[in-house]
Amino acid sequence: MTVGLPAGAEGLAETPDSHGGYPRLGDEQIATLSAHGERRHAPPGEVLFHEGDERYDFYVVLEGRVAILQGGHQIDAETLIAVHGPRRFLGELSLLTGQAAFFSAVTLEPSELLVVPVERLRRLVTQDTALGDLILRAYLIRRELLIGLGVGFRIVGSHFSPDARRLREFAARNRLPHRWIDVEDDPAAEALLRSLGIAPEDTPIVIWGRDVLRNPSNAELARRIGLKVSEVPAGTIDLLVVGAGPSGLAAGVYGASEGLETVVLDAVATGGQAGTSSKIENYLGFPSGISGAELAERATIQAEKFGASISVPAEAVSLRREDSHYAVGLDDGQELTARTVVVATGVRYRKLPIGGLEPYEGTSIFYAATLMEAQVCRNDPVVVVGGGNSAAQATVFLSRYAAQVHLVLREDELGESMSRYLADRIEQLPNVGVLPHSEVREVTGNGSLEAIEVEDIRTGERRTLPARALFVFIGAEPHTGWLGHDVALDESGYVLTGHEAAGAAAENGHWEGIERPTLLLETSLPGVLAVGDVRRGSIKRVASAVGEGSMAVRLVHEHLQTQPHAEPVAAQT
Ligand SMILES: Cc1cc2nc3c(=O)[nH]c(=O)nc-3n(C[C@H](O)[C@H](O)[C@H](O)COP(=O)(O)OP(=O)(O)OC[C@H]3O[C@@H](n4cnc5c(N)ncnc54)[C@H](O)[C@@H]3O)c2cc1C
Repeated sequence: MTVGLPAGAEGLAETPDSHGGYPRLGDEQIATLSAHGERRHAPPGEVLFHEGDERYDFYVVLEGRVAILQGGHQIDAETLIAVHGPRRFLGELSLLTGQAAFFSAVTLEPSELLVVPVERLRRLVTQDTALGDLILRAYLIRRELLIGLGVGFRIVGSHFSPDARRLREFAARNRLPHRWIDVEDDPAAEALLRSLGIAPEDTPIVIWGRDVLRNPSNAELARRIGLKVSEVPAGTIDLLVVGAGPSGLAAGVYGASEGLETVVLDAVATGGQAGTSSKIENYLGFPSGISGAELAERATIQAEKFGASISVPAEAVSLRREDSHYAVGLDDGQELTARTVVVATGVRYRKLPIGGLEPYEGTSIFYAATLMEAQVCRNDPVVVVGGGNSAAQATVFLSRYAAQVHLVLREDELGESMSRYLADRIEQLPNVGVLPHSEVREVTGNGSLEAIEVEDIRTGERRTLPARALFVFIGAEPHTGWLGHDVALDESGYVLTGHEAAGAAAENGHWEGIERPTLLLETSLPGVLAVGDVRRGSIKRVASAVGEGSMAVRLVHEHLQTQPHAEPVAAQT
């Protein structure tokens, strides 16, 4: 398809590189890619791909220039995201993950392009380390740029609507570029709805390209974006991993790389809690830190590279032993059967034990501090609650965006429950105020949050802090409600494993014919292992979660080999 270009389009200058997001390819890299694709000429105004396209190919600009646009193929100051010239490549993370295109690409002048079919590019990225790393890095940076710009689909609704909140949270957790349009206070919202013939009471809607989805479920939105929603394989798989946080993704990578037919499910998004961390600074091998989003994207691509199938959103709601395998029920009514199950469902954040939070949840009260939340409170005052490392990291991160950050903690001193390096950093931040031995008593506002009342628990004195947003990091509860009675839990709901599970295992009647003790990470059900934060006694760190997820696969092999009538699975390396 070719479109007419507006006057002045031919004069648009190439966008400078931004932190490696728009690198130029060298001769050798172009030669490598040329072996996998085809060169072709394109006239000015050719639409190479369109926002919302479910499939698009990898393009390298050899001659000419290409505009990257949001919202379609119209070129103006509002829609222009970037202009690429010779030796630059197009696309972003969606190309590698199989999601639809979040922007359009249109040639601005007669151009020569190298076109590599997307399937070949995905293979190449995993085979050629240097080229793969260059493209992946650029794509991760571009994804962050898109999220920051608010490019992608639009969610239109009221900040009072629980469904609008659900959709925004789903988009944010899955790191999907999008823009939020609030019918309560965005003057453009009314005109937009009128043009679509939709009444404000019929929101939320999601607009993408020419499609309008009316109050879609998370699964419907996910399908439209190209996420793989509960893909249930036929027959009994070797390994089902429930939860795609760091521990589940690690189990997925090791399981698939060791030849097990592996499926990984997550109710919300890949990355788990770590995916909501703005920067993980203590994960081995990343001396300058890595964002949780990047870690999650890299791990997801890695697991898929080895052949793991990752389904999001897909929530496990039940677990039942049948003969020598397991049936796991999903929230959409489907059932998956697996010879072994790794429970990697982590924990959910605790809420503040006060009333009046509901109207602000998801719009002014958050349980994660990423770029998405930071956009909401840019140049405004915010309050962070909690005395641990998560609250500390959020405080450091938010201090870069908010006018003022108040950190409210029960502890008497900053360094009591958080790492010293974080406490030191907070003490040096000029726009951060610390309120020790304090608790939040009340939140007030009018539509959006305006103030937080805080009490000094030693003196009873109360203080009102202006706040556009409240960030809560006060601990968590395990996601174990779906496991049923045969998986033994401790009094707080964490899963017992290894020798701690042995007593319950001896009594539940599911170990007949299995002549071995419970394995290190095994629960009271044979072949069901628990890893990461959901496990009693876990360390609650990314590295330990990853370590346990990897170890679990070794134990899965051990279990499969000791099963009566065990069928051989591919050898471990
Ligand atoms: C803001 C923040 C910052 C952090 N920073 C650091 C840090 O700097 N360094 C560090 O080492 N640790 C850090 N942590 C802790 C670290 O992120 C966790 O220890 C780690 O994520 C635990 O991994 P996990 O895989 O066990 O569980 P989780 O990360 O909790 O993942 C569990 C996953 O299971 C899914 N799930 C739950 N129930 C179901 C179900 N029934 N069906 C399907 N899916 C389900 C959830 O949606 C989730 O994605 C941080 C945590 C937070 C919240």
